[in-house]
Amino acid sequence: MTSLRNFLDTLPAHEILDVREPVGLDFCKTALALELEARKQFPVIRFTAPAGYDVPVVTNLFADRDRIARMAGTTREGFNATWTAALDRMMPARIVDDGPVHEVVLTGSEADVTALPISRHFQGDAGRYVSSGILVCKDPDTGVRNLSFQRMQMKGPDRFGASLHSRGHIWEHLQRSAARGKNLEVAVVIGCHPAIYLAAAAKVAMEVDEFAIAGGLLGQPVDLVRCKTIDVEVPAEAEYVIEGEILADEFEDEGPFGEYTGYSTSRSTRNVFVVKAITRRRQPIFLDIVPGYSNEHLLLGRSAKEAHVFARLKEMVPNVLALNYPKSGTHFHAYVSLRKTAEGQARHALMLLLGLDSYIKLAVAVDEDVDVYDEDQVLWALATRFQADTDMFVVPKVFCNRLDPSSVDGMSAKLALDATAPLQSEAERTALPAEAVQWARDFLTHP
Ligand code: MN
Repeated sequence: MTSLRNFLDTLPAHEILDVREPVGLDFCKTALALELEARKQFPVIRFTAPAGYDVPVVTNLFADRDRIARMAGTTREGFNATWTAALDRMMPARIVDDGPVHEVVLTGSEADVTALPISRHFQGDAGRYVSSGILVCKDPDTGVRNLSFQRMQMKGPDRFGASLHSRGHIWEHLQRSAARGKNLEVAVVIGCHPAIYLAAAAKVAMEVDEFAIAGGLLGQPVDLVRCKTIDVEVPAEAEYVIEGEILADEFEDEGPFGEYTGYSTSRSTRNVFVVKAITRRRQPIFLDIVPGYSNEHLLLGRSAKEAHVFARLKEMVPNVLALNYPKSGTHFHAYVSLRKTAEGQARHALMLLLGLDSYIKLAVAVDEDVDVYDEDQVLWALATRFQADTDMFVVPKVFCNRLDPSSVDGMSAKLALDATAPLQSEAERTALPAEAVQWARDFLTHP
């Protein structure tokens, strides 16, 4: 009951947009998602009969915050607390003998990835990319599993280019494997319960198996089966798994690819993944993630991060109320609200925020009456509660994310803006009697 298709079955009809015409997936899939986004609509998109393939392709699953919360069995308001609770009650995965992901096992020349509905997303992309693969591997020393997302460029029936450019745990594992002259065995999971996707996006310690976080979110262990050709375990109820190895000693150009910054980038670790097997369900669903500067890509990347950074910030500044990484800032801007009880608290929170997440370049603090999820309100607070000569500070030359095209030598300046009002402010916000607001709401509900 912890599969992608089970989750899709829980969605109300208005949350799924079916494309029944046999349209080509290249570019059109991205164009439709971004066009909907421009109209502030975020349905799951399902191509039921994409041209050239006989499997449905689902995308835009992670484009909506309320839907992401439901993946973790909670509401948008409850997400941060649910995330923290899941980390407190992690459940190790359970190995089972068999599962639907092994209904079809293809090896040798039958394991041909060019037959999968892998598509081009942006004009600048070097080719067709798997954007939705969870890469599962094991620490060569401890055996602890690792889940992460890496872009994969299809290069032939049994070959992908990969970039491990976030240099996370999988990159570490590869270095230690390569030092022993060994390739790194990796399984690429395409399509499984979305809670596993959220867990795979988490930045946690190397000793933590992200499947255990997914278990905490789901309230039950994730069932895993052993891969057919490599010593790695994957969700029994996955749709597709590509088994293979990242080569220890071969490197090739990879990219460019449209990244979350909104730019096409060819920064790459230039790794090579060689396919050993494809396993799948008999009638699989192919999951795609809209890459680039899209709601889906950014929300998947930041939902866990927001919850994580918020929890740590709140440990130090208990009167912090909410934290939002607005889409406009890709992963580089953060808005925090707090119930200020002493002058200087907002600056304290801002300093911590810049330290907790090296991606952040701009942090803005606002009072509790400002909704950090509403960018108009945050900018209003800047307009009316902020003076640039006294209410901001800059920290120059700090380690940052290199995908920011304006960064210099892997460093950027950090800007913190305190847009909270002084505690003794005499400025009074315009207000309305509660009865009048209630009347207006009732009128609009039943005109
Ligand atoms: Mn890890």
